[in-house]
Amino acid sequence: MPAPSRVLDPSTQQALAERLRFYRELGLTDFYRRPAQAIQQMDVPGLASETQDPSSQPIYPQETEIPPRKPIAAPPAVAPAVTDSAAALRIIREQIGECTRCALHTGRNELVFGDGSPDARLLFVGEGPGADEDAQGLPFVGKAGQLLNNMIAAMGLKREEVYIANVVKCRPPQNRTPEPDEANTCAPFLFQQIDVIRPEVIVALGATAATYLLGQRQPLAGLRGRVHTWRGSKLIVTYHPAFLLRDPRQKKEAWADLQIAMRELGLQAPAKA
Ligand code: SF4
Repeated sequence: MPAPSRVLDPSTQQALAERLRFYRELGLTDFYRRPAQAIQQMDVPGLASETQDPSSQPIYPQETEIPPRKPIAAPPAVAPAVTDSAAALRIIREQIGECTRCALHTGRNELVFGDGSPDARLLFVGEGPGADEDAQGLPFVGKAGQLLNNMIAAMGLKREEVYIANVVKCRPPQNRTPEPDEANTCAPFLFQQIDVIRPEVIVALGATAATYLLGQRQPLAGLRGRVHTWRGSKLIVTYHPAFLLRDPRQKKEAWADLQIAMRELGLQAPAKA
């Protein structure tokens, strides 16, 4: 006797439809051959954000226009000498405290420290929190976060297996790009987090993350498509999900970047039909 089919609620149906559309945009057409369990694992944290106002999302500059900002060199490792990664991250969070080190603290609702596995092999770095992130205290939980979740799932990973953080931990006013003094003040905390996690691969999402990680002010096109090294990790540069939402045609380019990351991690790319 066949098993009764499972009826999905409308929001889950919508999320799955969005996931399938994303896969088709990547050129992936055989995802349906994956085990049913893999499809079920396409659940997305922050599902409710589908109904959120798109205007609450960060507004990022055109990816080919890098605003003038002072490149910075990566500082020396200053992570606490604690062998437990989770404990070390907690110490960094305590050291940040109710931070007032830069002007961004004035408009902050929640400080967005980071989210994910303290032992992640893969770490994503974005620019800064938007309205949804500022409200929830978590990175990438709005529409751009939904897309990042889809990208992570397409790599065959779960969100909780990776780590996600931003260059600045407090939301810039009107979601503007962080000023150099703000990014230079906050970025050392990110570097400490990366020193603790020691990911094999870092994916810089957009120009701001690439600029402050690599200390290079270059158009994104000149940084994408190759493997950089950063303090013992491989670093891949790709588009910010918010940019991909505005220009979905670039999703295939982003997928090509993620496949470089997958290759470095030894992950098998889904076969194309
Ligand atoms: Fe502190 Fe960073 Fe927030 Fe600035 S953005 S107030 S440095 S936590």
